[in-house]
Amino acid sequence: MKYKTSKKEREYSLAYYYERRDQVLKEAKEERAAKRVREGKRPYGQPRYMDDHGYIIVRHPITGKHQCREHRIVMESHIGRPLTKGEVVHHINGIKDDNRIENLLLMSASEHSKLHAGNNKCREGEDNPMASLNASQVRVIKHSRKITKFLANKYNVSVFVIRDIRSGRTWKHIK
Ligand SMILES: [Zn+2]
Repeated sequence: MKYKTSKKEREYSLAYYYERRDQVLKEAKEERAAKRVREGKRPYGQPRYMDDHGYIIVRHPITGKHQCREHRIVMESHIGRPLTKGEVVHHINGIKDDNRIENLLLMSASEHSKLHAGNNKCREGEDNPMASLNASQVRVIKHSRKITKFLANKYNVSVFVIRDIRSGRTWKHIK
């Protein structure tokens, strides 16, 4: 059969489809992203970005949940379980995108608000995260043979604070 190829027929070929497919998908994605930006929303496809509060946002690698705060995921990975709603992860140096585990402290919401009490929330970097305990208390904790939970109750802090002191992750300078 003699086949006359018009422009349209040429375009409806598999070869042309594959050639165009990636380009078309890319354009569509760019269009969607531009539309979202016009609507004042965050474009899709940004795997890791900083939100308006200065926190790093990622997709949760285990649950797949979108728009999770990375410092919470780092802490979850560190302690080996998901965090509860009442647990807060505090940035020790106040830099909200410094999500190294050494810079994170797990505490209860009430401990956290106590820590920030009197501070302007926007100026987290100026507060002292160790303020809930003083150096002599930390020294006692380091040398104590009591169980972690006992010490946590005694000093009215979470068990994670005690555990971090004992493991040397925090208060390294106190012997
Ligand atoms: Zn904090």
